[in-house]
Order: sequence, then C-alpha cells, then structure tokens
Amino acid sequence: MNENLIKIAYLYEDLMNTYGDSGDVKILSFLLKRQGYDTQVDNISLGDEFNAFDYDFVFFGGGQDFEQTVVAKDLPRHKLTLDKYINGGNPMLCICGGYQLMGDYYKTNSGITIKGLGILPLHTVFKADKRMIGDTRYMTEWGEVTAFENHSGQTYFDNTNKLHPLGEMIEGYGNNPQDHVEGLRYRNFIGSYSHGPLLKNTNVANAIAEMIIKRHQDRISDENAVK
Ligand code: GLN
Repeated sequence: MNENLIKIAYLYEDLMNTYGDSGDVKILSFLLKRQGYDTQVDNISLGDEFNAFDYDFVFFGGGQDFEQTVVAKDLPRHKLTLDKYINGGNPMLCICGGYQLMGDYYKTNSGITIKGLGILPLHTVFKADKRMIGDTRYMTEWGEVTAFENHSGQTYFDNTNKLHPLGEMIEGYGNNPQDHVEGLRYRNFIGSYSHGPLLKNTNVANAIAEMIIKRHQDRISDENAVK
C-alpha cells in the first residue's frame, strides 16, 4: 500500500455534480497535496462495486430530481457499507441532492417520493411556497461560511437529539424556511445545501482535510497491524 496516497470515492460523479460541486474534491486534493499527499479519486457510478472502507473520504454531490431518481435505484446496494462507515465516524461530505438521499425520503414537486438510504434520520419534502435559491451565509463551528443554494426540497430532522445542524443561518434558507439552520453534522459526516463549491470556504475545507488525514493514518495503521 502506498502510504502517501489518499483515496477518495466520488459517488455518481457523472450524475450528481451541480453548481461546481466537483470543486469540493479538487480543493481537498489541492490542500492534501500541500501536506505532501497524493490523491486518487474514484468515480463510483451505476453498477460499480464499492466498499467505503477502502477509502479515506467519500463525496456525494447535488443533482436534479431526475438524476436523483436514477441514482436512488442503484444506491441501496451501498447502504450497509455507508452506514458502517458513517457510524464509525469516518469523513463524508454530501451536498444538496446527495444530502437528501442519505435521509429517509425526498418527496418532489411532481409528487414522486424518492426513497433515500435512511442512514440519517431526516426527510425532505417539496412545498409549493418557495424554491430556495440565492446566496447563503451561516455560522459554523469553524467560523462563517458563504455559499449558494438552489433546491426545492425542504429538509427536516426527525431526531433532533442525535443530529446537529452544520450552521446557524445569517442569510438565505438552508435546510428549510422555518428552522434557520443549514445542513447537518453527525460525527464526521457533513450534509449541506451549499454549492459554489462549499469548500472555497477554507475554514471548512481545512477541517475536512484534517479529518481525512486522521482517517488515512488510522487506515494505514490498521492495515499494518494485520500484516
Ligand atoms: N433536486 C433537489 C432539489 O431541488 C436537489 C437540488 C440540488 O442538488 N441542487 O431539492
């Protein structure tokens, strides 16, 4: 095993990549390179085999409703590995449509219910009152973030004891128009409505890069231990 190589899984890169989300992976690769690591990014698409534990980081971007219906049919094959990976405290970032698909369901404006993986206790619904589009600003544990949102789904947590929002809104909608919070942080899982990409905010990008390096070091010592 190449100890300098950080492995990133990009779920459905070819279908889920709205408003510059692939920039998140590029920014992380840049930051990791600066710390002396090479990165390998694998596009895991329809029908591909995937074991989350082969990776140091998993990324899942946003998508249109149609692409989400296509991806949602393939995704359940990966439920077990992602569930264990996330609940084991490993780093994953999901944006918008990808974030919605990690919850129980997304009821769209055409009346379809797209089933999510149900790993995180949240659900997303279309409500005719508004499409949430525009600039966002919010405060996270790493400081202020500026980004861009464009979604019709409104996301609600079903178990607020277990989940924390990623940030408190200063401008824009975030998860929904009522709660004034953006995204989700659960262990080292981050879900967010922020495009732009999100990780142009170097405070968040550096925090995620640190999580990835820690995961990489743990993975290397685990592999060396079984040798
Ligand atoms: N299709 C979803 C919605 O409109 C997600 C959009 C996105 O990923 N940008 O809510």
